[in-house]
Amino acid sequence: MLVRIVGGNGGLAPGFRNTSYLIDGKLLIDAGSVASGLSLEEQLLVENIIISHPHLDHISDLAFLPDNCFGLKGVPFEVYTSKTVRNAIKKHLMNDLIWPDFSKLPSEENPTIRFHDLKPEQMIVLGDYKVFPVRVNHFGDAVGLIIERDDAAILFTQDTGPTERIWEVAKSYKNLKAIFSEVSFPNKMQNVADASLHLTPQSVFKEIAKMPPTIPIFLGHIKPNYKSTIYQEIDELGCERITLFCSDDTHFVF
Ligand SMILES: [Zn+2]
Ligand SMILES: [Zn+2]
Repeated sequence: MLVRIVGGNGGLAPGFRNTSYLIDGKLLIDAGSVASGLSLEEQLLVENIIISHPHLDHISDLAFLPDNCFGLKGVPFEVYTSKTVRNAIKKHLMNDLIWPDFSKLPSEENPTIRFHDLKPEQMIVLGDYKVFPVRVNHFGDAVGLIIERDDAAILFTQDTGPTERIWEVAKSYKNLKAIFSEVSFPNKMQNVADASLHLTPQSVFKEIAKMPPTIPIFLGHIKPNYKSTIYQEIDELGCERITLFCSDDTHFVF
């Protein structure tokens, strides 16, 4: 599997794109930068989209993707997410006031995006991929995902505070190749991280003890203001398993 970090951050500024990971050019996890970070040709090749939770840094470009590709794709973008996310998008974003409802355009029978339910611990199969969502400790019924293709599985937690269940489930995957998780705030902002259900370097260190052993860990979702402090604090952990995303638009092959 080729995992492309289209945007690996938890904020938006020059040089920092919101969260979107693209697998093999066609399976998208979160839509924070799919329109701003991919060429128009690459956007048309996206087939299935999984949205982890309704925060703006994970859904913002879901507005612009169907607008860019309107009338050009032939089939809808298939969007898999919880009812909570679907309802939030339809009520607060694509409500025909803030933005058009592309799940009804150009018609309800042949829309530009089409929603499907994603429920915790109910596997779905999307083409070559088995996707297993697991609830994590964050707002908006957030889920992490374990995505498996052929002999490789990869875990994506996206936004979460300290969590348990997804690490238990991960231990049953003997073919797990990588863990993608988050570190949003520096240690001095532990109270903010706790209140907003995110991780700091010191809380990442506690999470590692719950993860399956030896698997490489990739961390993103840095808040742009704290990049240098977080880099230093992760470095001080001295954990060779950890790779911090250096920049957007990088990729890893598993
Ligand atoms: Zn986020
Ligand atoms: Zn969030």
